[in-house]
Amino acid sequence: MPSTARRLAGFTESVIRGMTRLANQHGAINLSQGFPDFSPPEELLAALERATRGPHHQYAVTWGAPRFRQALAKKIQRFSGLAIDPDQHLVVTCGSTEAMMVAMMTACNPGDKVIVFSPFYENYAADAILSGAEPIFVPLRAPDFAFDPDELAKAFAQQPKAIIVCNPSNPCGKVFTRDELMTILRLAEQHDAFVITDEPYEHIVYAPHEHVYFAALPGAFERTITCNSLSKTYSITGWRLGYVQAAPHVIAQARKVHDFLTVGAAAPLQEAAVAGLELPDSYYAGLGELYAAKRTLFTSILATTGLKFTEPQGAYYSLLDVSPLGFKTDTEAAEWLIKEIGVAGVPGSSFFREPEHRYVRFHFAKKEETLRAAGEKLGRIAKR
Ligand code: GLN
Repeated sequence: MPSTARRLAGFTESVIRGMTRLANQHGAINLSQGFPDFSPPEELLAALERATRGPHHQYAVTWGAPRFRQALAKKIQRFSGLAIDPDQHLVVTCGSTEAMMVAMMTACNPGDKVIVFSPFYENYAADAILSGAEPIFVPLRAPDFAFDPDELAKAFAQQPKAIIVCNPSNPCGKVFTRDELMTILRLAEQHDAFVITDEPYEHIVYAPHEHVYFAALPGAFERTITCNSLSKTYSITGWRLGYVQAAPHVIAQARKVHDFLTVGAAAPLQEAAVAGLELPDSYYAGLGELYAAKRTLFTSILATTGLKFTEPQGAYYSLLDVSPLGFKTDTEAAEWLIKEIGVAGVPGSSFFREPEHRYVRFHFAKKEETLRAAGEKLGRIAKR
């Protein structure tokens, strides 16, 4: 029998998605794969209903339906101040997941190095390998998950083609400060590297932290490839709508990658999602408040376990330090949590380059009642 491609030996199936399957199998409350259990805004649901009867059932323009790109450009400008041309600066993709793959394949030649901070969202290592690039890792160290500028400079000295910056960061909840982003930008300029950002949690940031759009930093736009998604902002992870935003010469190439990967994102969903992009500023303020309340509730729940945990500055994840429970690995701990406690998280090691087995990642993008039900179960950890 012929053997499958060697590049696939370099990574495993997604641990995040695997934990969702295990959670379902055991009927556990699923706080592993980060997605909400509450509905998208009513305006989106109504627009979706209208879209089902409309004419948008065939392929949209490959790089995104015009109406969607126009609304998207306006929304981006509203928050980042960037003057985005819907025809030159955007490619609409199937989620930020495809956007990242498009960005990597657009930026990197086989053999190029790409800097990835560790911990990192698990897709990045796989994206690097699939695009033929080699990830080089720079640690973000607990408790504040700051990077050491000298370590970053050393990584840049290896002349990487790009650096990936997830901001706000999944899984550690770090929100990069303007100064930190400027340090990254200076190094990228010095070594002429792309900065590929992943910013789906742009509107889930806890005061006093603030989201800084990398592409909007002075002089950054030309070398920044921004990947983003509507999944988290509008609670529509299943719609698979995302985008790449970059300078026109980059977008011209990214369009080709995207076209041959997927042709396009779902046409009726692009049509319906315009209603989300047109929501007023108060929607985003409300989303921020909703998640701030969830963070307060969930961290108070985690406190009942008697274990240490990270308090996110942004996004909706917390890393629970399960090392005092005495399991050999975080995977064993996560399986025990599913089977014996009834709550699913993700073994933290899947996010780290270093042999780090202390953590299980939980997310709190859930209804208050779901979080309270999880809380009752998690409280039993303290009695173990
Ligand atoms: N971003 C979410 C997480 O980290 C969901 C990822 C996914 O499955 N696409 O859990």
